Amino acid sequence: MSTHSITPLLDLRKLVKRYGGLVATDNLSLTVRRGEIHAIIGPNGAGKTTLIHQISGAIVPNEGTILFEGQDITARSMHERVRLGLARSYQITNIFKACTVLDNIGLAVQARRGSSMRFWRAAIEDRALFDEARVIAERVGLGTRVDALAGNLAHGEQRQLEVGLALATLPKLLLLDEPMAGMGPEESARLVPLIKNLGSDIGVVLIEHDMDAVFRLADRISVLVAGRVIASGTPDEIRNDAEVKKAYLGDEAIA
Ligand code: ATP
Repeated sequence: MSTHSITPLLDLRKLVKRYGGLVATDNLSLTVRRGEIHAIIGPNGAGKTTLIHQISGAIVPNEGTILFEGQDITARSMHERVRLGLARSYQITNIFKACTVLDNIGLAVQARRGSSMRFWRAAIEDRALFDEARVIAERVGLGTRVDALAGNLAHGEQRQLEVGLALATLPKLLLLDEPMAGMGPEESARLVPLIKNLGSDIGVVLIEHDMDAVFRLADRISVLVAGRVIASGTPDEIRNDAEVKKAYLGDEAIA
């Protein structure tokens, strides 16, 4: 086996984040593999958001190391992390509501290409840019909605567009923070297979309160309680883990 294949995509080692006397992540270690959907679950206040922020670079841990493809990115800025292939799906505020779906994704593709684009090649680049944007729109289930104004999209479709904007950065790892939030059952049912497909070639870290979606989507689940990982495993392993049942899921929480 080559070194490449055994290096985890993301390797979190003993992350400690303190807020005054409170330890939000407490020597937290976990790994995310290429092509896996790794869900982080846990009760309110367990440290899930604090963890996602440390991965994205929004906050810096007090202790511990974050390795991305074997490279230490603990001190890297959010912007540098995006360039390395670590993207976070942002909330609706990032969307230009007066622009079409295609223009929104096109702008995100252009932002990624940035300085490499020479102005005299603009027309050719434009074509390639929108071809790429169309492929991304298809990938997030908006292939038939490319000409719709983003402001006219249903709530669920806007969330799909947010994922599209993150994909435009060509991530190797995508952070999804409660993608189903505020969605009705039909909308979340539509998002589940889309997220599942993403996981076939990139790594996904998923935080989600909808346990039904989590157990259908995740290849592995880590359970956080009071800033610590109390269990990591496949959905079946987690479902049958006595400590997890006791600390968090309860007997009735998952079918
Ligand atoms: P939820 O499911 O409710 O979103 P969570 O698992 O995402 O919870 P965090 O938001 O990461 O948990 O919070 C972990 C702990 O850290 C909580 O006790 C919270 O009150 C505390 N905390 C989070 N952010 C801050 C902050 N900026 N200042 C002080 N304490 C904070």
